[in-house]
Amino acid sequence: MTLDISKIRADFPILHQQVNGKPLIYFDNAATTQRPQQVIDRENEFSLKINGNIHRATHYLANKTTEAYENSREILRNFINAAETAEVLFTHGTTESINLVAHSFGEAFINAGDEVIISEMEHHANIVPWQMMCARRGAKIVVLPFSNDGILKINLLDQLITDKTRILAVTHVSNSLGTVNPIAELINRAHLKNIPVLVDGAQGAPHYTIDVQKLDCDFYAFSGHKMYASTGIGVLYGKRKWLDQMPPFLGGGEMIDKVTFSKTTYNELPYKFEAGTPHYIGAIGFAAAIDYSTNLDSSQIHHHECNLLSHATSLLKNIEGLTIYGEAPEKAGVISFNIAGVHPFDLGTLLNQMGIAVRTGRLCADPVMDHFGVENMVRASFALYNTSEEIEAFYTALVRLKAMF
Ligand code: PMP
Repeated sequence: MTLDISKIRADFPILHQQVNGKPLIYFDNAATTQRPQQVIDRENEFSLKINGNIHRATHYLANKTTEAYENSREILRNFINAAETAEVLFTHGTTESINLVAHSFGEAFINAGDEVIISEMEHHANIVPWQMMCARRGAKIVVLPFSNDGILKINLLDQLITDKTRILAVTHVSNSLGTVNPIAELINRAHLKNIPVLVDGAQGAPHYTIDVQKLDCDFYAFSGHKMYASTGIGVLYGKRKWLDQMPPFLGGGEMIDKVTFSKTTYNELPYKFEAGTPHYIGAIGFAAAIDYSTNLDSSQIHHHECNLLSHATSLLKNIEGLTIYGEAPEKAGVISFNIAGVHPFDLGTLLNQMGIAVRTGRLCADPVMDHFGVENMVRASFALYNTSEEIEAFYTALVRLKAMF
């Protein structure tokens, strides 16, 4: 049975509208994806009938919400095949997940003179938290570079790892280049030297089956809103052996065991890292989004997204003066490009007038811009509800715009 894209599209109400008098073509999925009716309904059900702050009361509403929140954690655990729910922390998203590790792992394990390895293709969310921690602890960032086609130079890793290295933090899939990094191999190489690995999975979890036990990663961070759930909810997977040794990130309610003015003891995992009221309705919606996508055939979705990427790539290559950044053999559905003589913001604005939503700018990846010596890029990124017809309309629009300049 093939994937019925029109049936899938029917589940996403937002797609069925006109923008500037044209049918919306939504190609900004790497920034955020849209939500199916099933996720919206699940969240609404809790907002309309079942809302009660979790873990803190004996009443019906709070009990129902608590049960659904903890069930959602189990659905997320199963999704990434974590060994136990205690290793699945709800956060506000990938950014908070990485800040949590940079802060708490840093406090526990990083000292003056130590080194943290990150890659040149990281999103700012996997650079700045490490820099902030390094500044506090007197440690240093070391960068694993990529080649001009957007492939990490992983052979350099063995040289970059020294006896001062404390952690490797690397993206699964680049949000600017689309490169799918060989994270299993990176983890393996780092582990041979006893270096733990954090994987930024913001663009990986939406497109690939994640088995954290098989990968043996130490941390894996991802966001709900990039995989058909709401904003403000995400996950940090962490191995118990690290989480147990790391101090809490935020202090407040729920993360404590006993508070006195002289001393506070902390709650068990995962609550030690979930201070305050979490976005529990978002977590419940996140589980509904996971149910939604796992009910579809993942190999067919993958096949569909690969087809969209290769169709778009071969069409765009026909446009004279168009440069694609990132041509790794294994890419997710992301194409970043520029057209010579056309400012990316003009391109984005004019495409918007034709109902086509793309991203323009620095893509939260300044070092990638610097690598290619450009100020900005245009990025089109695809999701399961996009179609070949939309790719063709996009191509035609670009050809028309190119002719205008
Ligand atoms: N890492 C990558 C690779 C991303 O693409 C993004 C989002 N653009 C983030 C981290 C940050 O995710 P969030 O804004 O959901 O915290």
